[in-house]
Amino acid sequence: MRLVFLGPPGSGKGSQAKFVVERYGVAHISTGDLLRNAVKAGTEIGRKASAIMQKGNLVPDELVTELIVQHLDAADIWSRFLLDGFPRSINQAEQLDATLDKRMSPLTMVVHLHVEHDALIKRLSGRRTCTNCGRIYNVYFEPPEVDGKCDDCEENGELMQRDDDNEKSIKNRLTVYDENTKPLLAYYEKSGLLRTVDGSGDLAGIAEQVDRVIQEH
Ligand SMILES: [Zn+2]
Repeated sequence: MRLVFLGPPGSGKGSQAKFVVERYGVAHISTGDLLRNAVKAGTEIGRKASAIMQKGNLVPDELVTELIVQHLDAADIWSRFLLDGFPRSINQAEQLDATLDKRMSPLTMVVHLHVEHDALIKRLSGRRTCTNCGRIYNVYFEPPEVDGKCDDCEENGELMQRDDDNEKSIKNRLTVYDENTKPLLAYYEKSGLLRTVDGSGDLAGIAEQVDRVIQEH
């Protein structure tokens, strides 16, 4: 099982990816984590990436793909992985396909969590962060016991909304996501890999639907 998970901010993609990883024993691959680890460990790719990022540039697709391949080799997980947050562009998708084809391990499915913008805005604007310990709440999904106060810090923990969780900024993030993702969805639709799941319900309900598309395969 070789999966790619796609979903906008607030779609619950991270939670669903975690369920699939636990349920099917696939390896969870976050390119963000891989990159941070490589930089921290000072590997060759890590040093290259670090130099590029220090100049304020984006790490090129080739390097990220190389990083994924190295990880698949090192962990020996070519047959069972879930890519979370990658690819983000057609170029990355094509490179990934070419690389996986070379190793005769093509993707088996692309799961896309679809949620309407209104619902995403509600979810994302409900986020509150404890000013004392940094714990994150959601007034809709994970409310604190006392309104506006952190469960862990009580009187010391005021819950605040982060600046970039306001509606305007959220709408902007979603628009950018849509612009980047639409061509990607078309690309995977064309190759017959795309499965779209309605991500508007609760976590358990969505997980059931994800299960269904995986098992139908
Ligand atoms: Zn707190």
